[in-house]
Amino acid sequence: MSKIGILDVDGFNYPNLALMKLAAWHKLQGDAVEWVIPLCTYDRVYMSKVFTFTQDFSTCVQSKEVIKGGTGYDLKNKLPSEIEKIYPDYSIYNLKNKAFGFLTRGCPRNCAFCIVSQKEGKQSIQVSDLGQFWSGEKEIKLLDPNLLACKDYKKLLQQLIDSKAWIDITQGLDARLLNEDNTYLIRQLKIKMLHFAWDNVSDEKAIIPKLLKFKKDTQFDFRKMRVYVLVNFNSSHEEDLYRIYKLKDMGYDPYLMIYDKKVAPVITKKMARWVNNKFIFRSCEKFEDYKIVR
Ligand code: SF4
Repeated sequence: MSKIGILDVDGFNYPNLALMKLAAWHKLQGDAVEWVIPLCTYDRVYMSKVFTFTQDFSTCVQSKEVIKGGTGYDLKNKLPSEIEKIYPDYSIYNLKNKAFGFLTRGCPRNCAFCIVSQKEGKQSIQVSDLGQFWSGEKEIKLLDPNLLACKDYKKLLQQLIDSKAWIDITQGLDARLLNEDNTYLIRQLKIKMLHFAWDNVSDEKAIIPKLLKFKKDTQFDFRKMRVYVLVNFNSSHEEDLYRIYKLKDMGYDPYLMIYDKKVAPVITKKMARWVNNKFIFRSCEKFEDYKIVR
């Protein structure tokens, strides 16, 4: 039996799927798995980092072997397929009724600010069935980058419908791909939250009519429909405000994603605090008013 240490370098803000799978696989081999304790020694330690902006773990890790993985280190490292396919050990994050996973990987859009197409390929392809990471949990957090771009999306949406679990599509449905067929299926999901994205101002003509039609067809309101708005990439402050107000007027809930936050202007960070804190956003209609009271 080996003693395995796991380390979530990003902190514990969001469960690390790779570590949950590594823990499950090692426990199946009869190994002891625990979160790394700095003074303890290990046979092997896995350090995982999803975000490039997270500082690496600087405390010395006492282990015969240290394996680092995740997009925060590089885009090439991957889990071996027998580990990738395993049912995650949600208990390491004390998760009792939430499942996390990918049904598809890859995205044809290859947006300049996003690593998905480079890391996972320029095609959205099915990588698992729901049963691989879900076994009756009440909520499913889907991490797929572009589910609707996958040719098998109907079968996969049907699996989510049949689960009768609450569904949070966390990474964004591609609004440009919405049509009658997929809207019909999405309406049958038990939706906790849907996410869309309006990252480039210039995509207005491609995205806004689709979102308006989706809203009309589903009658969902802002509590179920969030739209990521990329800022500090290629838009002006005025264009950011334009997207925020437009989405709000349409009955969607904007959520700002700051590109390269370290170098973002103060006003952009302030705008993100206003939009992303939903208590403030709903009680303070205009950014100008928020700026005055802050
Ligand atoms: S559509 Fe989304 S997932 Fe695909 S490349 Fe653009 S940002 Fe990334």
